Amino acid sequence: MLTHSTRVDTYIGLGSNLAHPHRQFAAALRSLAALPDTSLVSVSSMYRTRPWGVLKRQPMYLNAVARLSTLLPPKTLLTALHGIERAQGRKRRYRFAPRTLDLDILLYGEMRLNRTYLTLPHPRLPLRAFALIPLLEIAPDTLPCRRRYEKALQTLGAARHEVRQIPSPAGNPLVQEKISNPLRSSQLS
Ligand code: AMP
Repeated sequence: MLTHSTRVDTYIGLGSNLAHPHRQFAAALRSLAALPDTSLVSVSSMYRTRPWGVLKRQPMYLNAVARLSTLLPPKTLLTALHGIERAQGRKRRYRFAPRTLDLDILLYGEMRLNRTYLTLPHPRLPLRAFALIPLLEIAPDTLPCRRRYEKALQTLGAARHEVRQIPSPAGNPLVQEKISNPLRSSQLS
């Protein structure tokens, strides 16, 4: 597999509103942690959010952001994310359809890319409080574009309040346990 010679920090947005979103996330995080030449650095809190861009009623979403450190080039990473979505029953029926799992590359280092298959940073990141809030929760202060995204979040106004952090004193126990004990995953789902 083609890899880069230096590691890149990349931020992956997770979303789910079908088939037990917490379980979808636990499985997705295990798969992200198992990607070749990649390590899972951290995971944000879970957030309950109102569906975005939809006209018909849909279940509320669960959203989070995971930080990876990877040697995989962005196209290889995107293909791997699509494989994880497919393995978890993702069907692409129509834009903004409810989904078992959505994985987006929000940032890939400082890379800027404009291809039909991949745009970096994610083009709708500045418009989506449900991605900005968990991203800013786990991104270090040194993240070069941090101030820009903090400003983007401020301009979203009321949309910020539709993203509710799910209280969990010990972080994300379900998720943390699943990552550290992948062999026990079937017992936990
Ligand atoms: P989805 O949000 O999963 O429905 O993505 C639809 C398409 O967006 C995918 O097939 C990707 O090729 C494309 N895409 C463009 N930029 C990105 C990005 N930064 N992260 C994920 N998918 C992207």
